[in-house]
This record gives sequence, structure tokens and C-alpha cells, in this order.
Amino acid sequence: MKYQHLFVIFEHDDGKPLSVSYEMIGEAKRLMDKYNVRYNSNESVIAIILGSNIRELCNEAIYYGADAVIFVDHPELRYVKNDTYARIISNIVSNREVVSKVVECSEQYIKPRYIFFAADSIGRHLSASTLAALDSGLASDVNKLEIDDIVLRHTQKTGGKEEKYEKTLIMYRPDFSGFLWTQILCLDNRDEANKKDFHPQACSIIPHVFEPLERDINRKGKIIEYKASIEEIDQAIKIIKREVIKSEVSLDKDIIVAFGRGIRDDPSNNIKIIEEFAKMINAEIAISLPLSKQPYNVDSNLKRYFSIARVVGSSGKKVAPKLYIAIGISGASQHIVGMKDAEYVIAINSDANAPIKDESDLFIHGRMEDVLPVLIDELRGVKHGKV
Ligand SMILES: Cc1cc2nc3c(=O)[nH]c(=O)nc-3n(C[C@H](O)[C@H](O)[C@H](O)COP(=O)(O)OP(=O)(O)OC[C@H]3O[C@@H](n4cnc5c(N)ncnc54)[C@H](O)[C@@H]3O)c2cc1C
Repeated sequence: MKYQHLFVIFEHDDGKPLSVSYEMIGEAKRLMDKYNVRYNSNESVIAIILGSNIRELCNEAIYYGADAVIFVDHPELRYVKNDTYARIISNIVSNREVVSKVVECSEQYIKPRYIFFAADSIGRHLSASTLAALDSGLASDVNKLEIDDIVLRHTQKTGGKEEKYEKTLIMYRPDFSGFLWTQILCLDNRDEANKKDFHPQACSIIPHVFEPLERDINRKGKIIEYKASIEEIDQAIKIIKREVIKSEVSLDKDIIVAFGRGIRDDPSNNIKIIEEFAKMINAEIAISLPLSKQPYNVDSNLKRYFSIARVVGSSGKKVAPKLYIAIGISGASQHIVGMKDAEYVIAINSDANAPIKDESDLFIHGRMEDVLPVLIDELRGVKHGKV
């Protein structure tokens, strides 16, 4: 077998694990447990961890479900340097001698069967560079995975003949505003005229989508250190000082009022009503991702709301308020992962069938221009003891 095992590239921030790492390991374990039963096989989940002083993280990776860990500990690797990381990772996973120290490896092993990265600012870049180095393909921003056998007839891939591809990783990516899934496959070219293998099959995974496994300190697994050579080129960029910029807005609040592209008919006035409403209920204001691209011309003092610091979702913040009010937001999966921990959700939407309805405890069908003034009047009444 030339291709074996599922590798997870474990992300952390200077030794502090990111939750997406445990989420990826959990999903990898679930998939490979099923895989091993179905194909009567014994393939493993291997975490790869690069950094400085990260030995303790290796145990955590095992407690959360990894069968084995290969780590590289070096002061030069304290912060991610994309090209250095990509080179080291691709060297490790394509080195049979190293991989066979932690798991059973066939004599023919040359590369992983599957690899997972995080779909965040680091993982998106690193996954592309690593897969380029490994000469295979990549699906980015995936939120559902299956392993199955598929039958395919394709001009390029199979020369028009019907072929069965076993153990194919079916990678689902939310597209068209998050309401349709694209299935992405990374398949070997079987046609004699342009024969070429495309392994590993790899993807980056949206954070907060998959559940991690329960932490179990009784889980055991092999951990080995890989001594990577740090070359002159790796030291071309020196990180002298690193400062984490404090977000200009905190969404760690009891009540959040979030608005989306539904403001479009009258952006300035709609934001003003939302602002007034939020003030009355002591809420912080959040937005959906498209608003951070400043899509509408609004009064200059309202532009501050179009800030990336206010975005909720997979590319923004994960929030968990007591009350989340989504105004003119359709409910794309990338937005939902950011607010699904809210205790109570109210949505105001002019489309009776907007998908956010399924995520809401209370759905108000109507235009925000009509609904919000009524709510504001009611709140004024409550304040003045008239209701
Ligand atoms: C890799 C990737 C990552 C992404 N990450 C994020 C993320 O982190 N966060 C995020 O939010 N999105 C993210 N997206 C974008 C996401 O797919 C959606 O496109 C986006 O969430 C839609 O924003 P929206 O709901 O504001 O707009 P739309 O989908 O256009 O919805 C607008 C809604 O407003 C309603 N509406 C219209 N007029 C009114 C009115 N007058 N009153 C009330 N309702 C009205 C409409 O019925 C509609 O439901 C990401 C996409 C990709 C590809």
C-alpha cells in the first residue's frame, strides 16, 4: 500500500492548543474507526505538532483521540513560518522510516492517504503550500466528510471508462452563500494517457463544526520527536517581537444584535434603527461577513460597524450570548457555527423561509424597517411603565 493513515496538522498558539485541532482529531478518529471496520484494516490517526516547548501538547493530542504523534520542537518553530512548516511537514509525512516508528506501515508506503488542516488564516496557507510540496490536491473550507467507494466515468480521469475508486474522501464545502454543498474529490488519473496519482487527499476544516471527543487521559499512543534541520533560508525572517492586537470590539456580551445584507434597501437608516434598538436592550452590535467588505455607502459615523472585529462565524468570532438577535441575516452555515451556542435566538427576516428560521427560537417574519420601530416603541412603553 503506497498510501496509508490520516494525518492531522495540529495548530496551537505558542503552545496553547486551538479547539479546531481537537475537533479535527475527533472527526479523524470517527472516520478512521469506521474505515478500519469497513475495510478490515488497521490505519491510524497521526497528529503532527511543530513548535517550541510543545511536548505537553502531544499527550493532549493522544487524550483527544490521536493514535500517535510526531512532533518537532525547535525555538525557530515557535511561530508559524509557512514555507518552513510546509517543508518539514511534507518531509515527515513522506518519510516511511519516520512514520513507521509510530504506526504500522507497509513496505510500499510513500505518502499519507489523507491529511487534515484547519481552515483558519494559518491552516489555509499552510495546507496549500504543503500539498503543493506533496504534489496533490486540496479542498478548502470543508464542513462535512465521508469515506466511501465511488464509481466514476470521466474523460480526463478514467479515459471515459467506468472505474471504481475505493476509500475516497468525499469533502463537502458549503458554497452559494453556504446553502448548497459542493462535493470535492481528489482522484488519481487512471487514464493511461495521463496517468498520475493524487495522494494524499487533503482538506482544510472549518473551525467549530465538528465535536471533539471526550478528553480521556487513559488513551495511549506512541509519541516521537523528529529532528528537523533548520536551514539558513528558514532564518531569513526573524520574528523579533510579537504582540497580539486586542480586538477593538468585545462580543463577549449577554445580548448581541447582529445584522446582515438585509439592511440593503436603506443601509444608513436601517443601521440607525438597529443602533437605537441595541442601545435600548444594552446589546453589542455584530455583523455577517459580507458587511465587513463595506458593501454599502453609509454615513461616515456608521462605517465603524463594518469592521471585521464584529463578524460572527467561521471567519470571525464564536459567540455565546444569552440572547442573539439576527436581523436581515439568512443563516449560512459559516455564520451559524459562530452563534450556535447562543441560549436564545430571535431572527427578523422578510423571507418566511429563510434558513435562519431553523436556528431560531423565535422567528419574526417581516421587514426590519417595519418590525424594529414597533419593537422600539414597545420598549419605550416598558421603560415608561405604559405596558
Ligand atoms: C470560506 C467562507 C467563510 C465564510 N465565513 C463567514 C463568516 O464567518 N460569517 C458569515 O456571516 N458569513 C461567512 N461566509 C459567507 C456566508 O456564506 C454567507 O454568504 C453570508 O453569511 C450571508 O450573509 P447575510 O446573511 O448577511 O446575507 P444574505 O445571505 O444575502 O441574506 C440577507 C437576508 O436578509 C433578508 N432580508 C432582506 N431584506 C430584508 C429586510 N428589509 N428586513 C429583514 N430581512 C431582510 C433576506 O431575506 C436574507 O435572508 C463565509 C463564506 C465562505 C465561502
